[in-house]
Amino acid sequence: MNALAATNRNFRHSARILGLDSKLERSLLIPFREIKVECSIPKDDGSLATYVGFRVQHDNARGPMKGGIRYHPEVDPDEVNALAQLMTWKTAVADIPYGGAKGGIGCNPKDLSLSELERLTRVFTQKIHDLIGIHTDVPAPDMGTNPQTMAWILDEYSKFYGHSPAVVTGKPIDLGGSLGRDAATGRGCVFATEALLAEYGKSINNLKFAIQGFGNVGSWVARLIHKRGGKVVAVSDITGAVKNPNGLNIPELLAHKEKTGSLEGFHGGDDMDTTELLVHKCDVLIPCALGGVLNRDNAANVKAKFIIEAANHPTDPEADEILSKKGVVILPDIYANSGGVTVSYFEWVQNIQGFMWDEEKVNAELKKYMTRGFNNIKDTCKTHDCNLRMGAFALGVSRVARATLLRGWEA
Ligand code: GLU
Repeated sequence: MNALAATNRNFRHSARILGLDSKLERSLLIPFREIKVECSIPKDDGSLATYVGFRVQHDNARGPMKGGIRYHPEVDPDEVNALAQLMTWKTAVADIPYGGAKGGIGCNPKDLSLSELERLTRVFTQKIHDLIGIHTDVPAPDMGTNPQTMAWILDEYSKFYGHSPAVVTGKPIDLGGSLGRDAATGRGCVFATEALLAEYGKSINNLKFAIQGFGNVGSWVARLIHKRGGKVVAVSDITGAVKNPNGLNIPELLAHKEKTGSLEGFHGGDDMDTTELLVHKCDVLIPCALGGVLNRDNAANVKAKFIIEAANHPTDPEADEILSKKGVVILPDIYANSGGVTVSYFEWVQNIQGFMWDEEKVNAELKKYMTRGFNNIKDTCKTHDCNLRMGAFALGVSRVARATLLRGWEA
């Protein structure tokens, strides 16, 4: 099942739980606006290369649309659509005053030089500049993009509208980025994990974790779990996978990856097959990479008791069913990875105020939002007698539905 079909299915299920009017359901499902643009750039060798860029603006009932821009070869309209919709429910679950959007360019950023990436980002910004804005749609980094990408978008946008730091978040600190934004998705995910485990009388200390993905999110999750005394027994990324039943030394693994560019060959563990990561023996599995990685082919073999979805839609509906029958507790993406967009909100607020918070304040506020989010989901689960995914969807969808109804239909 593709990402959009899976997301729509979860949305429809929550709409039934909430008893939503079918006309409202249809209006919430269909995106506000879908943008598709041609982005042609001269390559360094003088040849022409053409890429397709997307921005799907899903909903703005609760505020400006918000979400990342992804550079990845698998970016396609359906996936961007699904991710934009997930952002709408995610910002509502976090209770930050935003709607949802997502964008992307179908390209492999690893095949592009820095100057080619800069040209591509500037052309994309030229094509969408009149559709984004501080109070309309605020992009941020996602897979394959980073603070430098945001700096180029800011610079290009500012040529049209003057200096506008709040038009993107996840910027470099020197250009108005927030302290703590870089670690925020990982840190938020760890706060979420702590809140969930506490419900089961457990804590990170001494539990065994397997982490898929060692990019921005996965490496922060690993670092913070290691720091809290958790045993990270397996880690994988596209370069390989490594395991150690007694726990990997994460600072040393980070240094190894930095030096060699790969997880393989780490002296503090044994190499293993990357496909084994998701079914590796552990207490908590944290997928931090692509969507759809847990599916009917591997779900029955998952050993973890808890799954924390740091990635967007890592579990497809078939796997969801298999895992819940096995009694695995899944903390859903629209809550578990909301730390990134929550600190994006803090960054936007700081930019608008022209003021900078210290990192302690950012992290303390993030913890407050993540803890409140978990408690709100728990209450929704109790009200509707449903699992955490449906609790999170029902919470997010009901908040967006309320905002939509309050605005009214008048054209
Ligand atoms: N790309 C991140 C996400 O999927 C962050 C979005 C943002 O900060 O706007 O939630």
